[in-house]
Amino acid sequence: MTEVLKVDPLYPELDKIKKAASVIKAGGTVVFPTETVYGLGANALDAEAVKKIFIAKNRPMDNPLIVHISNIDQLYEVAKDIPEKIINIVKIVWPGPLTFVLKKTDKVPKETTGGLDTIAVRMPAHPVALALINESDVPIAAPSANLATKPSPTKAEHVIDDLFGKVDVVLDSGETFFGVESTVINVTVDPPVLLRPGPFSVEELERIFGKIIIPEQAKGTGEFSVALAPGMKYKHYAPTKKFLVVENRGILRDVIKELREKGYRVVFLCAHEVCKQFQEEKIEIIELGSENNLYEISRNLFDSFRKLDKSNADIGIIHSVSERGIGLAIMNRTRKASGFSSIYSIEDVWKYVGNKTQ
Ligand code: AMP
Ligand code: MG
Repeated sequence: MTEVLKVDPLYPELDKIKKAASVIKAGGTVVFPTETVYGLGANALDAEAVKKIFIAKNRPMDNPLIVHISNIDQLYEVAKDIPEKIINIVKIVWPGPLTFVLKKTDKVPKETTGGLDTIAVRMPAHPVALALINESDVPIAAPSANLATKPSPTKAEHVIDDLFGKVDVVLDSGETFFGVESTVINVTVDPPVLLRPGPFSVEELERIFGKIIIPEQAKGTGEFSVALAPGMKYKHYAPTKKFLVVENRGILRDVIKELREKGYRVVFLCAHEVCKQFQEEKIEIIELGSENNLYEISRNLFDSFRKLDKSNADIGIIHSVSERGIGLAIMNRTRKASGFSSIYSIEDVWKYVGNKTQ
């Protein structure tokens, strides 16, 4: 049975938090909101509890989890040999959407880190997440609370669609704030390596660390044979429909026109400003929010992927946005979701889409 509890996102009710914390302490699973996406949590120090996360999500056991903490003492509990410089940095950037990969202590079971001797750790900046970790009094391992084949959940409805009956408690606090997963940076090497772009931007990272390494994977502009981060080797989420990213705005109209002429039902995922330009086309549209506020787009992105899956279109088309700030995370998730189907010219379309006319 799954118990769903509505919790105020800014002033979480202590009785509900205590109830969820007792489930964590007893080795159960609790879905909770963070400022990025919903997480599926269990006691990070309890191997049996952590296994339940993998089973509920159907996640491969060697795909490591992010461990969530609510105070710096817990950092020392899970990570060791932390450079002085990094200690100073985490004290400034936490709580927030930045995950550090560090060396793990023996206290952390290998189930939590997918067999690695490193650990990914962060302090989330969501009142409900912080309250839950505080009351549980243990670090909480929590990957995104979706089935392994689905986009990360940004609303409790997404969680319920994917995991109802598979977890003990869901704390429903409405929409998450950023809508894309945390930035992940490996600081066991110098200069640090960006493993996943997120709400904590590259521009901010460079200001704090000076030089950082940004591999092509981080942009999502190609698939790689060697996985930089363990999770990268797994098939990432992709919609059940064909999904194309038109990187060159100048050809958007032609791409849509040609596909429709060939008999495809197209749904267009677009920023408000771009959607407006296609009003006359009578095309099915999923609005992403304003291009002048990329946070609006990041918040709606995964919900729009789920809407695409539920629509009766054959093909989803999305256009690129600026890669500045959170835009890089938006483009990384979008390109991965498209299976790296980036369109720069009309000819590219037919590389990914079969020609329907006989
Ligand atoms: P999720 O919580 O589902 O967003 O996935 C967490 C991601 O964090 C993994 O897929 C990895 O890419 C990354 N990660 C977690 N632990 C480690 C680690 N020890 N070393 C490198 N990357 C990690
Ligand atoms: Mg995930």
